[in-house]
Amino acid sequence: MENIIETFDLKKYYTRGSETVKALDGVNINIEPGEIVAIVGPSGSGKTTFMNLIGCLDSPTSGSLNIAGKDISSLKESQLVSIRRENIGFIFQKFHLIPTLTIKENIELPLIFAKKTINGDFDKLLEKVNLKGKENHRANMINGGDKQMTAIARALVNKPKIIIADEPTGKLEAKEADMVLGIFRELAQDGLAIIIATHDLNLAEKSDRIIHLQDGKVVPNE
Ligand code: ADP
Ligand code: MG
Repeated sequence: MENIIETFDLKKYYTRGSETVKALDGVNINIEPGEIVAIVGPSGSGKTTFMNLIGCLDSPTSGSLNIAGKDISSLKESQLVSIRRENIGFIFQKFHLIPTLTIKENIELPLIFAKKTINGDFDKLLEKVNLKGKENHRANMINGGDKQMTAIARALVNKPKIIIADEPTGKLEAKEADMVLGIFRELAQDGLAIIIATHDLNLAEKSDRIIHLQDGKVVPNE
């Protein structure tokens, strides 16, 4: 299978005063469609930096980064925006919903930015995340599990190839976290690549592959 994500000697250095912080320091990671990959490592090990790079939210200092067969390592922000919109859905620990909008309106937001309109697939999407019948509930009135399901549907609405999830179960109860993993499993079966940064060992162990980061480098598995 063709890799959907390929990095080669990927580096991201920050300068802080006179000091250089090697947030990512030569990372080689390949991810195939249909894989669920957990990124684990202590605080400061480079997880968020890695997610931001593969999410096309930031550019590397050096090295190459291929997303869906295209080298994006030296693209400008305006070009990154369209790569991001076509390929990537984001899910966050804190859901990032607009509380006064309904479930449906929250899910539709990315379509508005992409200047598209909702189509007949919307019901299927609601079914997929178990929110059928709740679409007109306001986001501030629903429980954490339904909030994350709404955020997942919002991440899916532009039909991405890659899901990037930063601590997606951090604010959820065990049962809700299991539901999130169940949805991820179904999405992976549909061919999406799911990349999860997490401290949740239960979630990491249920992924297909765990990548350990430490000091900006991948720690080899024993
Ligand atoms: P993690 O998500 O694993 O906690 P990060 O990717 O956030 O790690 O950070 C990796 C390292 O890069 C840390 O030392 C952090 O302080 C540093 N870092 C992250 N972002 C910046 C930034 N914008 N400017 C300077 N240093 C940064
Ligand atoms: Mg982080």
